[in-house]
Amino acid sequence: MKCQRCNKAAVVFQKYSNAHFCKPHFIEDVERKIKRDIRKFGMIKKGERVAIALSGGKDSTVLLYILHRIFNERPDIELTAITIDEGIKGYRENTLEHAIKLTCELGISHTIRSFKEGFGITLDELVAKEKHAACTLCGVLRKNLLNKVARELGASKLAIGHNLDDEAQTILMNYLRGDMDRLKRMSPGITQLGLVMRIKPLRSIPEKEVALYGLLNDLPVSTDECPYAGEALRNEIREIINNYEVRHPGTKYSLLGGFDEIASIMGPPATQIVRCEKCGEPSSVAICKTCRLLGRL
Ligand code: SF4
Ligand SMILES: [Zn+2]
Ligand SMILES: [Zn+2]
Repeated sequence: MKCQRCNKAAVVFQKYSNAHFCKPHFIEDVERKIKRDIRKFGMIKKGERVAIALSGGKDSTVLLYILHRIFNERPDIELTAITIDEGIKGYRENTLEHAIKLTCELGISHTIRSFKEGFGITLDELVAKEKHAACTLCGVLRKNLLNKVARELGASKLAIGHNLDDEAQTILMNYLRGDMDRLKRMSPGITQLGLVMRIKPLRSIPEKEVALYGLLNDLPVSTDECPYAGEALRNEIREIINNYEVRHPGTKYSLLGGFDEIASIMGPPATQIVRCEKCGEPSSVAICKTCRLLGRL
């Protein structure tokens, strides 16, 4: 098949748009969508310091690389990377190596902070003594620590590597749970007390295209799977959406586009954010989830 822009051999077929692209035109298409979203939602503005959550996996690696490509020539925008080491033996060491390699190659400052330093315990140790699922513990603690480090670094935005598939899954999960408050908090541009504003520049890029972009640019991406991986409901939703996308190409974009329209008329989240009585971090209840999970009651 030929690229629809230049007639060279195509490397990708986008069923949802019926387009074939060669390598340079595919890369151009991905970067165009990201620049469009950054502009449309005012994700990154003049004079900002943007912290990028870098796990070493494909999404965050591609995110860091693309933001560097877009903003490298802009002296008024500063990029800095943060990696959280949860303390997952046999997994995190390898992804950390990839993250360090990339930030060194691109010359981007890099802060690594561990659960052990932040909370005095590794995820492995916590999982062994807690009844909660590993991903619940990991998600809550990582979000807390990422926000804290981004704030310490003076960042005005925290960029995370959620792609189109992640966004479509989260939207549908929130609809199915009837969790409108969480849905509202997903809207781009929501500001909350003590929380560095999160931005998702890859929200319009399908997961497969993020992976292909990483491959075509020879990025050092770790393909290791976390030994705890597997959030049951999300896996079910992923399968439903992927099956539906095969039969009805464009479903993921429809979910995201529909959400954006609803979000624009939904108003702010009802939940008030306060300071946690134990640790002072932002929380929707008197004692934050991190403190409750760590047993600081
Ligand atoms: S799969 Fe779960 S435990 Fe592993 S890094 Fe992701 S959230 Fe953490
Ligand atoms: Zn082409
Ligand atoms: Zn707390």
